[in-house]
Amino acid sequence: MGRKKTNFDAIPRVNIAHLPTPLEYAPRLSEELGCHLYFKRDDCTGLAGGGNKVRKLEYLLADAKNQGADTLVTIGGLQSNHARQTAAVAAKYGLSCELILDDIEGTPKSDYYHNGNVLLDNLFGANIHRLDIGQDCDAYAETLIKKLTSDERKPYLIPIGGSNVMGGYGYIRCANEIIQQIETQKLKIDQIVLATGSAGTQAGLLAGLIAAGSNIPVLGICVSKTTEDQKDLVGSLLRDILKNIGLEPELAKGKVNCNDNYVGESYGVITDAMISAVKDTAQLEGILLDPVYTGKAMAGLMDLCNQGIIKAGSNQLFLHTGGSPALFSYCEIF
Ligand SMILES: *Cc1c(COP(=O)(O)O)cnc(C)c1O
Repeated sequence: MGRKKTNFDAIPRVNIAHLPTPLEYAPRLSEELGCHLYFKRDDCTGLAGGGNKVRKLEYLLADAKNQGADTLVTIGGLQSNHARQTAAVAAKYGLSCELILDDIEGTPKSDYYHNGNVLLDNLFGANIHRLDIGQDCDAYAETLIKKLTSDERKPYLIPIGGSNVMGGYGYIRCANEIIQQIETQKLKIDQIVLATGSAGTQAGLLAGLIAAGSNIPVLGICVSKTTEDQKDLVGSLLRDILKNIGLEPELAKGKVNCNDNYVGESYGVITDAMISAVKDTAQLEGILLDPVYTGKAMAGLMDLCNQGIIKAGSNQLFLHTGGSPALFSYCEIF
């Protein structure tokens, strides 16, 4: 109704990721699960061990540069993949990087403070502000931004997980890639399954599918929140993204589907199902998942297959969002 459709390709963006990422069949896991399982390999976006945040950072960095920023500031858990990818992008573009990372209760600790993503953050030259369990990251960020500004620096704050409208644009592009690959490979995909946390990936992907007129359902397996809270988070960002690309926010209606059965105790805390999903995927396909996101999402996909909720013989596309560097910080459980 009178909304002007945005020229999506004109939105400023830098080229960082190796695109398109492969969309490939997983024959041995498929046989094990009784459905046809494909992987969209966003663990192979190329930068710094790869992962989904690189696509978001293509837009966020373009905005930071337009604003004349000299420092990227972001927030996450101590083993945040988003923080690692932000640190790498900052290094690549000659910006400083300030990471505000909080400790996560209930995670294995022998390698949590120095290995995995933390090791890489340091290697990329980021400055880590390590916060205690439960400390207020947003308040800390606000103070830090003020301090940096008074020191004549030009900080650019990237929200947790890079999940705002601009970050979401990265997954509109991913949706378009998927649609094209499905066409080229002559596939029929019944559902896309992914890990959903700060919501930008699921919201952006849905926006891209809606914009392209695709009806492929998307199932987000929660890694922290309840189903209802996650649906609210994804839905509200999806409506914002739709508005910003000139589409009706009401198109989001009925599209957001989440499942919180596989979170376990809480974010980052291990589950037995996650451990076996990580092992099975490694041993049947040679593909590395991670303990916090994709391991739990795959545990969900496997259980839904076993329960027959995902139908035998159906075609499932697992969006592999990366995260394997975190395996090294959980080494004692493997
Ligand atoms: C951040 C992350 C996700 C979740 O993406 P959101 O956009 O935050 O929902 C999934 N998998 C991995 C490996 C991640 O690092």
